[in-house]
Amino acid sequence: QVDPRHFQPLNTWTTEEIKNAVASHVMTTWSPCKAKNDLPIITHSSHIYLYDSDGNEYIDWTSQAVCTNSGHSLSQHVKTAINDQVDNLHFVYGGIAMTEIRARLSSLISELLPGDLVGCLFPSSGSEANEAAITMARRYSGRPKILSFYRSYHGGTKNSLSATGDFRRHYQQGSADFVKAFNFTPNFFEHAGADEDERVRSALLMLEEQIISENPESIASIVVESIPGSAGVLTMPLAYMQGVRAICDKYGILLHIDEVMCGFGRTGEMWGFQTYPGVLPDIVTSAKGLSSSVAPISFVAVNERMMEFFEDNAPGWGSTFQGHPVAMAAAYANLTEMLTTNLVGHVQSVAPAFYEHMRHCAEVHPSIKGFRALGLYGALDIATPDGEQPHEVHEARTAATNKYFEATRQNGLLGLFRPPHIHIAPPLIISEEEIQEGFDRQHRALSVLDEELGF
Ligand code: PMP
Repeated sequence: QVDPRHFQPLNTWTTEEIKNAVASHVMTTWSPCKAKNDLPIITHSSHIYLYDSDGNEYIDWTSQAVCTNSGHSLSQHVKTAINDQVDNLHFVYGGIAMTEIRARLSSLISELLPGDLVGCLFPSSGSEANEAAITMARRYSGRPKILSFYRSYHGGTKNSLSATGDFRRHYQQGSADFVKAFNFTPNFFEHAGADEDERVRSALLMLEEQIISENPESIASIVVESIPGSAGVLTMPLAYMQGVRAICDKYGILLHIDEVMCGFGRTGEMWGFQTYPGVLPDIVTSAKGLSSSVAPISFVAVNERMMEFFEDNAPGWGSTFQGHPVAMAAAYANLTEMLTTNLVGHVQSVAPAFYEHMRHCAEVHPSIKGFRALGLYGALDIATPDGEQPHEVHEARTAATNKYFEATRQNGLLGLFRPPHIHIAPPLIISEEEIQEGFDRQHRALSVLDEELGF
């Protein structure tokens, strides 16, 4: 016998009833579960704004998990596409039936990707896309090892978590055949005083030595985020990424670029890897902005040689919901709308204002020691008053940063917070005036951080 209140329509439970159910039954993912009781109960959203059950308004300041790129007011085009797909054919299993939407979305993605990335499959999340890509790289190459970087996040499933560098000290399950390298982050060996070209050369020599030590013929792929996002929006020098591509070519290693966070316009280009002209991946994975989170969907695209190989060999990864027709319809409509409204062009047009606001935050708030910003993708680095640089992987959540986080909510910003970085990545549809409004709120919250840190 279930509680008769379950037969009531949504939006009829009181806030109290919702909070009680949350306290007793809801679990969280990456934080201890009691954190759930502090989350605002969001009742509705529109454009770049979210509203909670206490009547508060928030700017969606990190596009949730950097994924609600097209904002919160779905167009008629997207709604109609989803409704039509639900009406005509809500589901067939991709292993036993083909659909027009799958053919069309695969070909559209291939057209949007440069180079010879021709083959596509559609899992439901970024983690699964990386899971599938890692499996395919191993099967294609016949090699077991995957090399990835410490400053990275690739997902929460077995292989994607094993490739992840962030949280490694908390969650690593000890999967075999995952090798970690240090990526070239903006402060890599900066203390040594060498210029950037020298530092890049050192980083590439270290990487190559590591690969030789591991036996290059045992390495299937190098997995890299084009711009490590969760780790702090770490753009890398062009020469470094060119060097990584060259090492891959030299040793027959596949270059797998993870575009889960950067893909679909975040950086002011369709793909984050376009930050490095001429550096083309063999495998691309992406998710989030693909459907702008209207439905859970990701993709893996592989180059022509891999596509040919898999004509006769199973890629070896699958799930019931891969190629879900409703999710693909949402993605297809979102992408065609992005193209007709030139959303990427819009990001380029507001990016200078966004950059200037980020620079200004670092200039006027002593609690901010540095920043990076590209397109509508930015991170501020939190300083410490004694001048000591907290190590980037230091546990930086303290009473002071908790107070700051509270201040962001009190000032009407809802976003991810991963100290020692403050991520800022609003929906890509945001206007310059709204960016200004967001940063007005950001400054008020940063003043709390300045004070709490004792500046
Ligand atoms: N790769 C990157 C670069 C990501 O940022 C994320 C999610 N933050 C993932 C993979 C995993 O995606 P998902 O959470 O959809 O599984």
